[in-house]
Amino acid sequence: MKCFKPEVVKCQVDGCSFNQDQTCHALGINVGGPHQECDTFIKSSNKAGNDSISSSVGACKVPNCRFNNMMLCEADKVNVGWHGEHADCMTFSEKA
Ligand code: SF4
Ligand code: SF4
Repeated sequence: MKCFKPEVVKCQVDGCSFNQDQTCHALGINVGGPHQECDTFIKSSNKAGNDSISSSVGACKVPNCRFNNMMLCEADKVNVGWHGEHADCMTFSEKA
């Protein structure tokens, strides 16, 4: 079985408590479905996570993404960005 741990290489969502310098410092993120939203996003005045951590995707509940296999992400890396007032996985690519 392929070993995958897709890193969250960049997150533009600077309003999230886990974000510092466009980097996610959560241990992992979950991406919700059916829309490719970062479920770990939290808007709070308190900082969250740890600067020594680089995040990766845990579960992804977006079955119509071509990188989704058994609710795990098989992309090498992902980017996250703003979509309105919430955060979206920008690496999402619809299955053909
Ligand atoms: S929005 Fe998601 S990917 Fe971005 S910093 Fe917050 S938890 Fe991490
Ligand atoms: S690239 Fe696709 S499978 Fe991976 S986290 Fe984003 S939406 Fe989910």
